Amino acid sequence: MNEFKYRRKWGPDPKYPCVQNYIHPHDNFTLIAGPCSVETEMQIHDIAVQVAVLDATHLRGGIFRAGTYPPDKFGWVDERLMSAFWFAAQNNSMQNIVEVLDYRDLDKIDQYASCYQIGARQMQNYTLLKEVGGAGKPVFLKRNPGAKLDEWLGSAEYLLQYGCKELYLIERGSSTHVDHVRWDLSISMIPAVQAITNIPILVDGSHGTGRRDLVAPMTLAGVAAGANGCLIETHSDPRNSLSDADQALSIKEFAYLTQKIINVRGAIK
Ligand code: PEP
Ligand code: MN
Repeated sequence: MNEFKYRRKWGPDPKYPCVQNYIHPHDNFTLIAGPCSVETEMQIHDIAVQVAVLDATHLRGGIFRAGTYPPDKFGWVDERLMSAFWFAAQNNSMQNIVEVLDYRDLDKIDQYASCYQIGARQMQNYTLLKEVGGAGKPVFLKRNPGAKLDEWLGSAEYLLQYGCKELYLIERGSSTHVDHVRWDLSISMIPAVQAITNIPILVDGSHGTGRRDLVAPMTLAGVAAGANGCLIETHSDPRNSLSDADQALSIKEFAYLTQKIINVRGAIK
């Protein structure tokens, strides 16, 4: 159904980069780990060292936070933490991912970011998509909890048309009527997106549940459905995380989960 719905009037056209003719630069499994918020230099360094030996490819941490409620830490930049975040990833052979809320920050953060993330709440901020697409770095685009598949791919296409050459999608759950989870992971998005495009799609079982006890089973469900990678919030002291403490995994839990991911990937090969 979606495939037909998404076949837009101008269709795949070799003249324009579009989701249907996208070619990804590699086929590695992408494993993103790190805390919800970069809290201190020591914290990010400590987590980086531990997740790198567990084969994390990317280190992710919030520097610009898009909180649901206004006050604390919205959009702050701390140059000292930014640089600690960058070096924590570089020194451990990972790329770091920085969420961008405002395109006017791009110049300031460019030297400290390997990749950019567009958060769920910004998915249809087209001004931001154009500028981030044109920035020339890999981009991770989250799905808004209310967005349909074609709306998500429409946003992906903005990034491609404005110059993004390495794009990833992250499924991070939908708003639904259920209240046993914070957001409800839409696992079916994974094969449905893959039926249309070769843009890798990652599963975010952390935001997609909001519950530590559900992160592992739902991440594995996403991997079983064919996800090209995972985002797993990881913290050395999860219960005391400054944000998203209810969903952060300890390093030990992360290690256990990565082993299971390997097993599930082996089983579905
Ligand atoms: C995050 O990645 O830390 C985050 C806030 O996620 P989302 O944009 O999916 O809510
Ligand atoms: Mn978070």
